[in-house]
Amino acid sequence: MNAVSAVTAPYDAERVRADFPILAQQVNGHPLIYLDSAASGQRPLAVLRAVERYETHHHSNVHRGVHALSQAATEAFEGARERVRRFLNARSTREIVFVRGATEGINLVAQSLARPRFGPGDEILITGLEHHANIVPWQMVCEQSGCALKVAPIDRRGEVDIGRLLELLTARTRLVAVAHVSNALGTIVPVKRIIEAAHSSGALVLVDGAQAVPHGAVDVRELGCDFYAFSGHKLYGPTGIGVLFGREELLEEMPPWQGGGDMIRTVSFEKSTYNELPWKFEAGTPNISGAVGLAAAMDYLESLGLEAVAAHEQRLLALATAELERMPGIEIIGTAAHKAAVLSFTLRGCHPHDLGTILDSEGVAIRTGHHCAMPVMTFFDIPATARASFGCYNTEADVRALVTALGKAREVFG
Ligand code: PLP
Repeated sequence: MNAVSAVTAPYDAERVRADFPILAQQVNGHPLIYLDSAASGQRPLAVLRAVERYETHHHSNVHRGVHALSQAATEAFEGARERVRRFLNARSTREIVFVRGATEGINLVAQSLARPRFGPGDEILITGLEHHANIVPWQMVCEQSGCALKVAPIDRRGEVDIGRLLELLTARTRLVAVAHVSNALGTIVPVKRIIEAAHSSGALVLVDGAQAVPHGAVDVRELGCDFYAFSGHKLYGPTGIGVLFGREELLEEMPPWQGGGDMIRTVSFEKSTYNELPWKFEAGTPNISGAVGLAAAMDYLESLGLEAVAAHEQRLLALATAELERMPGIEIIGTAAHKAAVLSFTLRGCHPHDLGTILDSEGVAIRTGHHCAMPVMTFFDIPATARASFGCYNTEADVRALVTALGKAREVFG
């Protein structure tokens, strides 16, 4: 994904906004200005309708039924998998595992790949800007297996120190796990470069793509990553559904991590044998309508054009950054050269939670807190930030509303 994209056709954000019924409401007597898409995107009508259609007409359990509804549900579910394969340009649907979200995808790799294979002397390398979902599963594996966790630091702009990362990448490194985009800072991490370096040093790479997929096309073959995890709800799809892409050769060698229905071929009390990919990793009844909704979200986003969306968001980011830079007392946290549509900041003398409450009273929804990235807060020596994040439906008027509401907060705290 690129930070800046060429725009060819005008992007009509007002028209896009109209596709999202939830945005038409008033909050605290003001029109809702939703600037929290990094936490969760809203769903367009196309997604809501796809889920409703599935639930109304096609629902049954998948895979095992011979009756018409079960076949329809199986077709919808496996069709969604093919849709995800195309979205990521993966080679095969055998490489697309449905999970609950990015968190579960990362835990799957931690427990199925790292836990049985890594041991004392082995290292897992992450970076200083990771979400807790890409820290804690590795800490758990280190405790379970005796391997060690190494952290490549970030600098004051919120960029990964690539020089230090390359120094930390040694023959002991078995896996590099890195965010494609930082949720707390917006930094776009040069993952392709990291993947190439890791592979030449013999390490595998997992990319946490939770914040990247809504902001640009991701091609797992072009990236060359071994694993790529993301969540449906940040991509304008439902919650409780996500994807783990894994290279087929690796998934093939990995043992299942959860046991139950669907992941088996045969079961006896003496021994069970396992299903083929990708079902080997999908124990139990899956989130069928979630997968259907996710596929509809991908159709929707591609109909807008990922490049056009990214270019629009970059314009909003540039506008908001310029406005906030002009406001005394505001400090932007995360000033990387390449950022996705995330703007973290603090207001002098005002706790981010108070700021969030004031903005909410003006109908402006931002997120405040540590954003599940406590080590990033520790690095910048702050307890929390306020974070505005932009999605395909945000407009310049939303940025102006943010600036006006911030002006009011500054009058209170300035
Ligand atoms: N990774 C990053 C960078 C995120 O921003 C998030 C969520 O905010 C996650 C992982 C975890 O996503 P989920 O809670 O949907 O599993």
